[in-house]
Amino acid sequence: MTDCKKIADLIFPDVTKTPEYYEEKYPKRELPEGARVTRFAPSPTGYLHFGGLYAAFASKFTAASTNGVFLLRIEDTDKKREIEDGVSCIVSGLSAFGIEPDEGVTGFDSEKGEYGPYIQSKRRDIYRAFAKKLVEEGKAYPCFCTAEDLEKIRESQESEDIKGYYGKYARCRDLTDEEITEKINSGAPFTVRLRSEGDITRKITFDDLIKGKIEMSENVNDVVILKTDGIPTYHFAHVVDDHLMRTTHVVRGDEWIASVPLHIELFKALGFRPVKYAHIAPLMKEENGGKRKLSKRKDPEANVTYYIEKGYPKESVQEYILTILNSNFEDWRRANKTESVSKFPFNFKKMSVSGALFDLVKLNDVSKNVISLMNAEQVYGYVTAWAKEYDGELYSLLTSNPAKAKAILNIDRENPKPRKDIACWSEVRTYLSYFYNEIYSPDISFPENIQPENAVLILEKYKELYSENDTKDEWFAKIRELCTECGYTPNVKEYKANPGAFKGHVGDVTSVIRVAVTSRVNSPDLYYIMKILGKDEVGSRINTAIDCLIRGLPRH
Ligand code: GLU
Repeated sequence: MTDCKKIADLIFPDVTKTPEYYEEKYPKRELPEGARVTRFAPSPTGYLHFGGLYAAFASKFTAASTNGVFLLRIEDTDKKREIEDGVSCIVSGLSAFGIEPDEGVTGFDSEKGEYGPYIQSKRRDIYRAFAKKLVEEGKAYPCFCTAEDLEKIRESQESEDIKGYYGKYARCRDLTDEEITEKINSGAPFTVRLRSEGDITRKITFDDLIKGKIEMSENVNDVVILKTDGIPTYHFAHVVDDHLMRTTHVVRGDEWIASVPLHIELFKALGFRPVKYAHIAPLMKEENGGKRKLSKRKDPEANVTYYIEKGYPKESVQEYILTILNSNFEDWRRANKTESVSKFPFNFKKMSVSGALFDLVKLNDVSKNVISLMNAEQVYGYVTAWAKEYDGELYSLLTSNPAKAKAILNIDRENPKPRKDIACWSEVRTYLSYFYNEIYSPDISFPENIQPENAVLILEKYKELYSENDTKDEWFAKIRELCTECGYTPNVKEYKANPGAFKGHVGDVTSVIRVAVTSRVNSPDLYYIMKILGKDEVGSRINTAIDCLIRGLPRH
């Protein structure tokens, strides 16, 4: 007759606290009816993947929309795979995109909340108390198999459908108390394994909030719950954590679906109420007419630092993530143009079952729209903060004359139809380069439909009539006159009705001036550009353009 209590005391001489102690220490949360407690539980083994950010948003939104709690837990039971600044990468990566957990890890060696520690390496005693309980109840046992023993088992299982430590392969499952005592006293290393009660012919079903009803075979494996160093495996640790942190909903990647039967068995063995699951399919990318997973190895944009370095504002990334997170988000946005994303009624049922499509082009469109709705002051704040880190020259240009920079950024902004030129802050340098001679390199090439001699004519006349103090209406009246004087029509419709009668229309005339002043065929409002550049600079650019044109003219 096995004396489980005795074996448990032998395995866990260090354990002083009981599961009841922890149950009391981490009581049921007092939250409103229906509130969800979710967590993001990454391992600090590499940079934060965009898919991780996406899952974290789903967790955060579901908690926020039910007045629940979203917490950040660090799962660092695998010390071999950990990277040095892994925790900071995760915390700063989330925070850069506006995810501040309500509870949990807040930085390297700092955390907030009553249900901690929130980093698994600091919870060793807790896991051991619960593992001890399982051994006491005969639901777990020590296993002395060495790596070589396990290798032999694996080799002998080639023809088996199920691999692992179970049935006749589970050699330590039925050791006698004497055998166990002797091995432990002799200092033999051991793991602790779950004594699975699963039966391969039986099924478990669970309702996944994203994927619907899922039916799977029960777990039969006596999986390791504590490794030889006494540290728990992920499977065991996360079950204990999710219970004690009073998590209600586990939102995670669908690579974990295969482990759900084991996780449900662990919840039951420990006497815990299982959590609800929402398994997220990986983000997909279109390639060569097909689809593949967004890959850490192949896609630089899989790493969230990509967005930080390029300077995508957090508002854009949030907006984009919601676009791919819930299929009805864009409809909601059209109906609620200025509402904060936090008001969006997030719903797991509106998530893609097979994997949302990730698309940088779409992100850029979303971001251009988001940035177009910001005011110049906000844009200035964001750009300078980004440039300080990533583009020192731009930073000095903008901050040496903030009023000028804000005036530039204010062109065609704060009106019902703002321009959508900028997708991220690293595009700003090019966007406004012609305002700063330090970074402007003129490249004057006029549209092909404009004869050089006509361009010279337009520019010569424009030079005479341009006055810095004109109002926009006065300026435009002069442009119309200029059209007529040079053989162009100020009226596009008139031109279209009778193209043979004119050299071109007002658009061609402004195009010539625009190219001369900015080297661009497309720019924001030319009137305001010239106001900011000032009379002297406009004059000098027009002279340079005339020179270029004359040098390029055929000799007579
Ligand atoms: N630490 C696990 C991972 O990084 C988390 C799985 C879970 O959320 O339960 O994949």
